[in-house]
Amino acid sequence: MSKPRIPYTRPSITELEQRYAADAVANGWGERCYGYIGRFERAFADHLGVRHAVATSSCTGALHMGLAALGIGPGDEVILADTNWIASAAPIVHLGATPVFVDILPDSWCIDPRAAERAVTPRTKAILAVHLYGNLCDMDALLALGERRGVPVVEDAAEAVGSVHHGRRAGSIGRFGAFSFHGTKTITTGEGGMFVTNDDDLHERVLTLSNHGRARGQVRQFWPDMVGFKYKMSNVQAAIGCAQVERIGELVARKRAILAAYRERLADLPAIAMNPEPAGTVNGAWMPTAVFDASAGVTREALQHAFAQENVDARVFFHPLSGLPMFAPRQGNRNAWDIPGRAINLPTYHDMTESELDRVSGVLRAALHAGARA
Ligand SMILES: *Cc1c(COP(=O)(O)O)cnc(C)c1O
Repeated sequence: MSKPRIPYTRPSITELEQRYAADAVANGWGERCYGYIGRFERAFADHLGVRHAVATSSCTGALHMGLAALGIGPGDEVILADTNWIASAAPIVHLGATPVFVDILPDSWCIDPRAAERAVTPRTKAILAVHLYGNLCDMDALLALGERRGVPVVEDAAEAVGSVHHGRRAGSIGRFGAFSFHGTKTITTGEGGMFVTNDDDLHERVLTLSNHGRARGQVRQFWPDMVGFKYKMSNVQAAIGCAQVERIGELVARKRAILAAYRERLADLPAIAMNPEPAGTVNGAWMPTAVFDASAGVTREALQHAFAQENVDARVFFHPLSGLPMFAPRQGNRNAWDIPGRAINLPTYHDMTESELDRVSGVLRAALHAGARA
């Protein structure tokens, strides 16, 4: 018989989430249909230390509206790292703009600010900083670049709940931030997202866009001022979100403890690099990731095979987006094209046990030994 399955991630849902959701289902209608939504937006904004938050149906929707509110459209370019999930690039394409994929740094696996600088053109309308797996982008360098070239820096912080850059939370640093509450993320509403900003005008534009183009204060009924979007979160989802935000400290602490537990178990193996935490930062540790030295002889395929044998649902490191069929290849993005071939995402969830951590670490250790023999 095979060993019990270790999933890649799993939400932590307690009696609190169930109670709020049940209340929303029973009572959150009519006059109260936005009650939990407003409460969730306020609580999340307070957690981040930002002025405004707009709950959405997804992070993709939050990005789409934020980029639209910046006026990004056909002919424009948005710079982002080649190493990413498609959700960060899709809204750029939907707006008729062009995603410009640049290389990542070898240690943080996030956008290389120097590569971003080389990619700036007169058509560049934004730099999208995606904090990969909880690792922080070099925000100081990106903000300085944005300042020099007059280009806003925006954040996809879907993977960076709990990450802090010199006292400021990921997602609160750029012109706007976008979050995901998909079931695999650190806090979840099943599906869901959040747009956040300190910019009052941008917030107003996103509110209008998010309400089918109806501006606040428009007195005529059914009278949109422009064609907008419909990316709203439901009150029942927001109720779950309220409970998750109340527990956010506990949820992030467990994520960090799991990353630390992996690090401890693998400390004697210098050929394996994991998510960094530079001085002055906190890594929210959404997704512990192991990257093997090129010299270790360990491939993604060997890792996938070894984890499948052990009944562990480890996931591959993101493929370079420019390697997908709908984009032009940019093989010059050396790190983005090279690292995924010798890396793997490790399981992490609130209720993970010590023996499960042992099993996962054991697979990495064995893969390293097998690579050395090959
Ligand atoms: C999960 C994720 C998204 C997409 O979030 P959705 O809520 O599914 O739209 C976007 N960007 C990053 C970096 C993500 O990890």
